[in-house]
Amino acid sequence: MDEVIKQLPKLAQEKHNENKKFFGKLKRKPPKDLDYIMQDLHEAEFNRTDCLSCANCCKTTGPLFTNADVERIAKHFRMKPQKFIDQFLRVDEDNDYVLQGVPCTFLDAENYCSIYDVRPKACREFPHTDRKKFQQISHLTLKNVAICPAAYNIVEEMKKLIHIK
Ligand code: SF4
Ligand code: SF4
Repeated sequence: MDEVIKQLPKLAQEKHNENKKFFGKLKRKPPKDLDYIMQDLHEAEFNRTDCLSCANCCKTTGPLFTNADVERIAKHFRMKPQKFIDQFLRVDEDNDYVLQGVPCTFLDAENYCSIYDVRPKACREFPHTDRKKFQQISHLTLKNVAICPAAYNIVEEMKKLIHIK
């Protein structure tokens, strides 16, 4: 997996224009059954992906934290939300709460998430490839294919499966 992750930014860069063009068409003319196609592709890819041997999302990006995330995780630590914010988070340029740094402070040495049951919604949903109306998050997916090998593979499969004139 390490070698795949190392190569991924370069591979994603090589596919960038092709992917951008594909997502442009997808947005204009999404297939009627796109939600089902994405569910199938997502499931098949994650059945063969071992996130524990990767954790590249947790190591290189980190999620944004909603207020509900902050409250839930602070409660888990028996901390006041503001104390949790002061200790672990910062506000980014979009005014969102994000981690103070990466790798994520909650990732352990074996790539397990130490707050797995209460982790942020963005972590639960990453890389969002089973999301409904997937064509609406193409800008995000164009970035995620450089971080997440599973997202990269799913987009490659999409291009083989979906042909839009
Ligand atoms: S979601 Fe993607 S980047 Fe994150 S651990 Fe799994 S394969 Fe790796
Ligand atoms: S909270 Fe857990 S799942 Fe989310 S980035 Fe940190 S280690 Fe990864």
